[in-house]
Amino acid sequence: MQVKLSKTFSFEAAHDLPTFPEGHKCRRLHGHSFRFDVVVEGEVAPDKGYLIDYGDIKKVAEPIVKQLDHYYLNEIEGLSNPTSENVARWIYDKLKPSLPLLASVIVYETCTSTCEYRGK
Ligand SMILES: [Zn+2]
Repeated sequence: MQVKLSKTFSFEAAHDLPTFPEGHKCRRLHGHSFRFDVVVEGEVAPDKGYLIDYGDIKKVAEPIVKQLDHYYLNEIEGLSNPTSENVARWIYDKLKPSLPLLASVIVYETCTSTCEYRGK
C-alpha cells in the first residue's frame, strides 16, 4: 500500500521581497503567519500498518521552525530572497537529510496562497 501523509507546522515571520517590481507592496517590510506542510510518501509495511510516526516528523521539523519563528527571513543564511518558493526549497533541503521519505514541502504564505516544492 502506497500512501502520502503530511504534518503541518506554523511560524510567524517578517520579510520583504527584493526582486518584486519597484513600488510593489511585497517589497515593503511585512509579516505573515506562515504555515507549511511536510509531506512524506512511501510504502506501508503490512506488519506495521503505518508509514511513519508523526512524532518523528515533528522531531525533525521543530528545530527548523525555531530557526524561522519571529525572525526577519531576509537575514537568515540562504533566504536573502525569501519568496514562498525559496522558503519551501530551504525547508525541504534542511529536512531531507534526516527525513528520506520526504516528498514535498508546501508553504502557505497566506490562507489562499501556497507553493509546493518537490525537490527539483
Ligand atoms: Zn509576503
